Amino acid sequence: MSVNQNPEQRKQVLDFMTSAHQSFSSVKEGANASYIPFLASVPSDLFGIAIAFTDGEVLEVGDTKYEFAIESISKVFTLARVLEELGKEEFKAKIGSNATGEPFNSVIALELHKEHPYNPFDNAGAIATVSLLNAKSSDDRWNQIISNYNLFAGRELAVNNEVYQSESDTNAHNRGISWLLKNSGNMYTDPDQACDVYTRQCSVAITCRDLAIMGGTIANGGINPVTKKQVVNKENIQPILAEMMMNGLYENTGNWLYSTGLPGKSGVGGGILAVVPGKCALAVFAPPLDIHGNSVKGQKVGAFLSEKLGWSLFNK
Ligand code: GLN
Repeated sequence: MSVNQNPEQRKQVLDFMTSAHQSFSSVKEGANASYIPFLASVPSDLFGIAIAFTDGEVLEVGDTKYEFAIESISKVFTLARVLEELGKEEFKAKIGSNATGEPFNSVIALELHKEHPYNPFDNAGAIATVSLLNAKSSDDRWNQIISNYNLFAGRELAVNNEVYQSESDTNAHNRGISWLLKNSGNMYTDPDQACDVYTRQCSVAITCRDLAIMGGTIANGGINPVTKKQVVNKENIQPILAEMMMNGLYENTGNWLYSTGLPGKSGVGGGILAVVPGKCALAVFAPPLDIHGNSVKGQKVGAFLSEKLGWSLFNK
């Protein structure tokens, strides 16, 4: 697949997206996240697929206008911001770039490694990443994060307050992780502030189309394919994709790589992002999750489209 495809080729991509949507809409496996009460109330049969190409064209099938909680996919974009500030070597030393093989909110993983975070996608590393931003206040920290997300999406995003409230009422575990990080000297601001800003970033509402464009910015060397603005420096794309490749779907990342050959990132809101460097990004939204917190339909769509469209990075 080349970058500037003719309309015939794009039509073929749309046909594959439509057939993926038809084939997988009847899949009944998985369940909505329920440890964040709001997420359990999202209709389970919502299903959207969007692809943003590096030339700015966006293809959409299904429920691509429905706003859902970005959850852990937010970690990719905060990582991008902090990499810009710190550079990849300092970031790697402070946070890390390896997988723990444990669930994303594992305290055991933290304890096994002297309470040092292992990577920016497990909650410990993600909250520590938020704390690394050089900010004067909680509002300043938040404004830096949301303005960066807006540049990735090419529009003004907002927090879904119901999600934020629901997560804030139930995030004692993440607050505990934040204080363990403080204990080991791996928390760079007030732990409650870092955890609150992290909770807010997870509650940002996005559509499947937004997510495709946000990922498309990474696929396009850091330039938003729609607004054409440089959002992240090209040199930071490799560390972002390396982190996604290594731990984007937590303990199921290996299985995802087997079937897609692509860096991906999931969120418990039901979103999944896959990046095809230099070509496009795929975003899928379908709330039912596997036991590791990854959209079941999202993984099936990723595998199907990667195979049909020859996206795997390992088959070149
Ligand atoms: N806000 C969620 C949490 O901290 C995000 C987890 C996820 O999407 N994997 O638990």
